Amino acid sequence: MNGAIFVAGHRGMVGSALCRALEAKGLGPVLTRTRSELDLCNQAAVEAFFAEQQPQTVIHCAAKVGGIHANRSYPADFIHDNLAMALNVIHSAWRHGCQRLLYLGSSCIYPRMAPQPLQEEALLTGPLEETNEAYALAKIAGLKLCEHYRSQYGVIFHSAMPTNLYGPGDNYHPEHSHVIPGLIRRFHEAKAAALPSVSIWGTGRPRREFLHADDLAAGLICLLEAENPPDLVNIGSGEDLPILELAKLIAQTVGYEGEILTNPEMPDGTPRKLMDISNIRSLGWEPRMGLEEGLAAAYEDFLGAECRVRSAN
Ligand code: GDP
Repeated sequence: MNGAIFVAGHRGMVGSALCRALEAKGLGPVLTRTRSELDLCNQAAVEAFFAEQQPQTVIHCAAKVGGIHANRSYPADFIHDNLAMALNVIHSAWRHGCQRLLYLGSSCIYPRMAPQPLQEEALLTGPLEETNEAYALAKIAGLKLCEHYRSQYGVIFHSAMPTNLYGPGDNYHPEHSHVIPGLIRRFHEAKAAALPSVSIWGTGRPRREFLHADDLAAGLICLLEAENPPDLVNIGSGEDLPILELAKLIAQTVGYEGEILTNPEMPDGTPRKLMDISNIRSLGWEPRMGLEEGLAAAYEDFLGAECRVRSAN
C-alpha cells in the first residue's frame, strides 16, 4: 500500500478496528474525517476532499447500518445513505487518481434462498430477503460500481462481504441494534431488574454466523495486500448457530439465569446465511476469535460504554 490511506467511516465498529490494525502493522497514520468534517452523502464535499487529499488507497467502511427492525422501519434512509456514500466515494476516488479501493458489502446481498454455505457466485441469482432489501440493493450497487470501474478503467476497486459482525464500539441500542449487542443489553438489564424471563425476537430458529470486528480487520488487510484480488470475497467465521443457542450463550456471558422466551410476532429474517470462506482462506487469512471469547469481550465493551454514558450524565 503506497501513499495516503483514507478510511471512510473510521469511527464505526469496522472502521475503528481497521485503523487499529493498520496502525499495528505500521501502515498508519491513516487519513480520516469525522461526519461533521465530511458528510459522505454530500457529493460536492466528497469531491472537494478527494481533489485536495488525493489518497492512493481508500477503504470504504462508512455505512448506515442497523439490525432487522431498523432495516424494516427505515428502508428509504438505508437505501439513500448507502447508495449516496458509495457513489460519491467511489467516483471521486477514481477521478482523483486512487488506484486501490476496498468496498465493504454484507452477507445480506445474497439471495434469501441461495444454497448454503453462500458462495460469491450466488450474487444476483434470486430474490433478496425483504427485511433488508433496501440495504442489500445499495450494497449490491456499490460492489457493482467497483467491478465496473475496475473493468473499464483498470483501477483495483474490489469488495469484501462480511458476515454478521460484532465487537468493540458496537451499537447497543435496544431496538435498532443487531442481535448480539441488542441481547447483551436486554439480558444485562433483565439481570439488574431480576426479571424472571426475557423475550428474544422471532422464533429463535434462524441460523446466523458471527465474526469479531478485529478478525474482519485482519481479513481486510489480507485483501488489500493481495496483488490481484477477486472482485468479491466473503469474510466470515465459517460456523453458524441458531439464534436461541446464541441467546443462551449471551445469557451465560452476562450471568442471567431466568427463562428465555421467543416472540414470533417479531421477524425472523432470512433462515440462514452462512458464508463459504474458501476464497479468503486461500489468501492466507483465518478467523481467530471464538464466539464465547468474543462475547465475553463484547460484554466488557458494553459495560465500559454504559459507564461512559453514566459519567457523562
Ligand atoms: P439480520 O441478520 O439482518 O437478520 O440481523 P439481526 O442481527 O438484526 O438479527 C438476527 C436474528 O436475530 C433475526 O432472526 C432476529 O429476529 C433475531 N433476534 C432475536 N432477538 C433480537 C434482538 O433483540 N435484536 C435483533 N436485532 N435481532 C434479534
